[in-house]
Amino acid sequence: MSASLADVSVEASGCTRCPLAGSRTQVVFGMGDPHADLMFIGEGPGAEEDRQGLPFVGRSGQLLDRLMLEEMGMRRGENVYIANCVKCRPPANRDPKPDEITACRPWLETQLDLIDPRVIVTLGNFASKLLLGTNTGITQLRGRTYPWQGRVLVPTLHPAAVLRGGGGPMAQVRADLVRAKLALAQPVTSANR
Ligand code: SF4
Repeated sequence: MSASLADVSVEASGCTRCPLAGSRTQVVFGMGDPHADLMFIGEGPGAEEDRQGLPFVGRSGQLLDRLMLEEMGMRRGENVYIANCVKCRPPANRDPKPDEITACRPWLETQLDLIDPRVIVTLGNFASKLLLGTNTGITQLRGRTYPWQGRVLVPTLHPAAVLRGGGGPMAQVRADLVRAKLALAQPVTSANR
């Protein structure tokens, strides 16, 4: 019998595959609908996420929730799943290191396999570069959709960048979320799955 997302989450909760295991409060595996059509992938947990054990629950998460509702009419947990590239908080909110992202990647790939979203929105440089397998930065990558393993991938800025950057980045994320909404509205055919 294949493992469920809940089974995998329990397994991941004891993960020690990389040094971030030593500084985390808890593993932040992900949250939402285990069969969601839409999956957001961010960078890694921050302080509040580490404390609560849930992704995107700080200011960035509140902004993501607002933009998701305003541009897509969607709420987290309702046909939406949210996760990060690394499941444990990097100390002092530093960037995750390449070996940490590599070590954590199998958890993300298992999530993608089990959830099987139709549309993926990558939030910021780390997730966008990881999934698209490129060194090109998010400001160059965003603004279009990409075919990705039979799905549609929409790279956009991380909400933290919107909080820092204001109106310009906000408008860009809004436009990207509209792209994701349009991709979700496309009928599923054997040609695009
Ligand atoms: S970041 Fe990922 S690979 Fe590293 S300990 Fe946490 S769950 Fe395991």
